[in-house]
Amino acid sequence: MLYNYNQLIDKISKASGLTVNDIDRRVEAKCAKLSGLISKEGAAQIVASELGISFEKEKMKVAELLGGMRKVNITGKVIQEPMIREFTTKAGVKSKVLSTTLADETGNVRTVLWDTNHIKLFEDGKLKNGDSIEVGNASIRNDELHLGSFSEIKISKEIMENVITEKRLHEKKISELKSGDNARLRAVIVQVFEPRFFETCPECNKKAVESRCAEHGEVMPVRKAVLSIVLDDGTESVRGAMFGDQIKILNLTNDDLASEELFTLKKREILGKEAFFIGNVRANKVFNTTDLVINEIEEINLDNLIQSLKS
Ligand SMILES: [Zn+2]
Repeated sequence: MLYNYNQLIDKISKASGLTVNDIDRRVEAKCAKLSGLISKEGAAQIVASELGISFEKEKMKVAELLGGMRKVNITGKVIQEPMIREFTTKAGVKSKVLSTTLADETGNVRTVLWDTNHIKLFEDGKLKNGDSIEVGNASIRNDELHLGSFSEIKISKEIMENVITEKRLHEKKISELKSGDNARLRAVIVQVFEPRFFETCPECNKKAVESRCAEHGEVMPVRKAVLSIVLDDGTESVRGAMFGDQIKILNLTNDDLASEELFTLKKREILGKEAFFIGNVRANKVFNTTDLVINEIEEINLDNLIQSLKS
């Protein structure tokens, strides 16, 4: 669902009347001026606003969404039963978060609602799975569409039939992986590292340092595990990272993660496992590598595989 850079400058070019090369040069200059502190996509957005181009009122399609975008307006169909989770802030305030998936004819996007008034629309059945909805003033965080108190949500009269319900996944070789890809790859687990633990903010799931979230201030942190593995498919190897509950898909329980002995036993079962790994490819700035943040592991079904080889 990532809005790729070329699409973005194409759009700016059309809106401004300047050539794509012109826009590209301006973006390069902006990146250079900001000494690489900003992505090319981010720089392109600055260039757009300097040219007086606003995408704010424009309706976006899922395929055009780009990390960091704000004031996103989009119409989509709810294609997943919404899940509501309750949590308590450090201040003792009970709050809720709702997650679901919105789809249009170009793709689908995980969508997160933080405003209890918006969530109540779903609780009261005014909005539900299968409805087409209009979203206004949302933002894109971690490849997800986020709606806060300043966002709008309402039922849409648009009838949306041909929406894309499958996750857009491209089966890839490890050697082909690029940052930003949503990828599915078949590989073998060749290395498993000891789990590490870190604290996260209960509200936004981002890292909390000494019980402080950059956005939400002092919070009661949630302790989460991260497991690093190395995957190899014969073309190359890649580091895979699994966070929190995702680790359970490897049949590792919290007890396994907490005990060195249990972990060593389980590790033997995991090593050499071959499966399909599905996730997002992220640039790891600390190690200057490309990592796969694993969301799902699919067992290799030999019957299906034989079928697909036959056809
Ligand atoms: Zn937070």
